[in-house]
Amino acid sequence: MASPVPARFAIGVDLGGTKLLAGAVGPDLSVHHRARRPALGLDQAGLVEMCVQAVQEASAAVDGEVTCVGFGIPCTFDRRTGLAVMAVNLPLADIPFRDVMAERLGLPVVVDNDANCAALAEARAGAGRGASELVMLTLGTGIGGGLILGGEIYRGAIGAGAELGHVVVDMDGPPCQGNCPNRGCLEAVASGTALVREASLAVAARPATLLGRALEDGRPLTGPLITELAHDGDEVARDVLALIGRRLGVGLASLVNIFNPEVAVIGGGVIAAGEMLLAPARAEMRARALAPGRDFVRVEAAAFGQESGMIGAALLAHEGLEGRG
Ligand SMILES: [Zn+2]
Repeated sequence: MASPVPARFAIGVDLGGTKLLAGAVGPDLSVHHRARRPALGLDQAGLVEMCVQAVQEASAAVDGEVTCVGFGIPCTFDRRTGLAVMAVNLPLADIPFRDVMAERLGLPVVVDNDANCAALAEARAGAGRGASELVMLTLGTGIGGGLILGGEIYRGAIGAGAELGHVVVDMDGPPCQGNCPNRGCLEAVASGTALVREASLAVAARPATLLGRALEDGRPLTGPLITELAHDGDEVARDVLALIGRRLGVGLASLVNIFNPEVAVIGGGVIAAGEMLLAPARAEMRARALAPGRDFVRVEAAAFGQESGMIGAALLAHEGLEGRG
């Protein structure tokens, strides 16, 4: 009897501003093992080491052959040098990330921006399946941006695009986060970090609420807590999500005017709020963008939820697509 062909997996890794998710992903995009790590408080060497360990954990957990590894990292790239140049929310700078990882892991490695990976997954098999023009925003620690144009990831002239989270929506707005020198970026006002900041202000003014009582009970103020209590009907949590949604809609209006996408996909941790975030975003976008693009575009939650980046990184690796770093 012939022995069965061993299963082949790619390890997809999504490195975010606060956490890492790695998964062993089959060619049919089924996820067979997930490895999670917190990414807080690490320097560049520590981040590299954590990535290596997470890939090794996911590889060891599956029954089959791991043929390649894909990384989605929240960095800008320069194709001329092969370097991951800078990250707004992590201490990664001027590192030949693909070469470092290929040497450490002994496997073929592709690297791309995390939101580009998410956009690819959603365009090929998710909320934008079949769309050739797609805008992706991932709302987490920051706001990642990815573009699919003509069915392919758009990376710009030297690989430094498309940082859609740093579109300015308020010229005199608050300073942006981390290593971004700008102010009033969409990321500064509509990320998961902004959500927590706005909730902190709102609950201080209205403490006699579910959210206020949860904080009194010692629960830390986080995006997941705000979303949980909004689902339970807390008005402060719902109001804050609606505010973030409207701001997201302001940013989307510009992206719809510029790119005329078929679908705008919203992912990252904050999308757990679903329609509480998307309905105000859609309404604000439609009130501000130009016809006919505003009436054509669909604004949808990521079908892969918070796993779009990880699955897209594995997809990129499976397809052997040229990454950026
Ligand atoms: Zn910025």
